Amino acid sequence: MERFTGSFTQQEPIPEAAIEAAVAVMRHGRLHRYNAAPGEVAEAALLEEEFAALTGARYCLALASGGAAMTTALRASGVQAGDRVLTNAFTLAPVPGAIAAVGAVPEYVETTEDLVIDLNDLQAKLGRARILLLSHMRGHLCDMTRLMALCDAAGVTVIEDCAHTMGAAWDGVPSGRRGAMGCFSTQTYKHANSGEGGLLIGDDPQAMARAVILSGSYMLYGRHTAAPPEEAFAEVRLTTPNVSSRMDNLRAAILRPQLRTLDDRVDRWNALYRTMEAGLADTPALSLVPRPGAEAFVGSSIQWRLPDWPEAAVREMLARCAARGVELKWFGDPEPRAFTSRYDSWRYAPVPSLPRTDRVLAGLIDMRLPLTFTPDDVALIARIVRAETSAVWQAGAGVGART
Ligand SMILES: *Cc1c(COP(=O)(O)O)cnc(C)c1O
Repeated sequence: MERFTGSFTQQEPIPEAAIEAAVAVMRHGRLHRYNAAPGEVAEAALLEEEFAALTGARYCLALASGGAAMTTALRASGVQAGDRVLTNAFTLAPVPGAIAAVGAVPEYVETTEDLVIDLNDLQAKLGRARILLLSHMRGHLCDMTRLMALCDAAGVTVIEDCAHTMGAAWDGVPSGRRGAMGCFSTQTYKHANSGEGGLLIGDDPQAMARAVILSGSYMLYGRHTAAPPEEAFAEVRLTTPNVSSRMDNLRAAILRPQLRTLDDRVDRWNALYRTMEAGLADTPALSLVPRPGAEAFVGSSIQWRLPDWPEAAVREMLARCAARGVELKWFGDPEPRAFTSRYDSWRYAPVPSLPRTDRVLAGLIDMRLPLTFTPDDVALIARIVRAETSAVWQAGAGVGART
């Protein structure tokens, strides 16, 4: 019986060019972004310039984490304590966490079987908030054209959580560029790796000036070469708190060479994704998630659904795959585990009734595709998942476990 022996959490090493850049920063010792030699533009500022150019944004701000980018974006957009903020029910814990961090309250929107925000439910809830923190969870982009039309008509500002969509696009527009602001993460498991880190992009001079001051720029905002012009700071600099959450030059140095090779990583992720998808195609009682033609995605993870499977059968399938070295995550688990939790375990916020999301999450399986995997590794993993899923399903169907 075939077994997989690789690691689902092993990333690629940091590229040599990035290691050299990091060592150079350590040798000169100017790790703080405002500690620049005369005439020097700090690594953090250069990273901001390069990420703004990559995404086509007017302004960019580097931060300590993706969560800090979202919190900063919400605050810079004027969210106040007690406000409601619309967001996806299917997302990662730092998203409602960012809303809670500014004293606001998440208003969750239902999830479709295609794992994106339910635009009909969103439409019904648009009157409840001024801001939508839209999470492209696991890299799935909704119909961004329709979403923006709905939000624009209702006067709702969209902030995009692009933690899984750096390098993705909808209808040719890079993720993070339809909403007023886009928030990216450079945490190890995302699409560029600095351990921790975040990037915030946007075009609005006032909002981005507030974001720069919020990040902890003191009166040194003039050193941000991808920030709005001086006049945008005239008032903002005195009316905005410093919420110290900057990125340092060491992380920026590690990230800059990685931005230059993002396209290549996207191609490799998508090759792994398509291999897994092909290996699972036509597995009985297993539904793959369709990818719309308008969506240019980054397949750094893959999801599939086991629609209406009994809980015991899902657990059996997971255990059998794990026994053969294949670690899967399950969003239907009532108990939050490791990185995986869901809206009903975030008890600091109201837990609404979301039957459509519950039904989707109950059978939702998730798997990382680290770039240390080869296409052969992924083909093997797919054979294991396919065999164990089929075996459990056939056994269950025989004894009437099917609901
Ligand atoms: C990782 C992640 C974040 C937050 O990123 P951090 O850099 O870890 O704070 C936000 N949203 C989603 C969907 C994520 O997966």
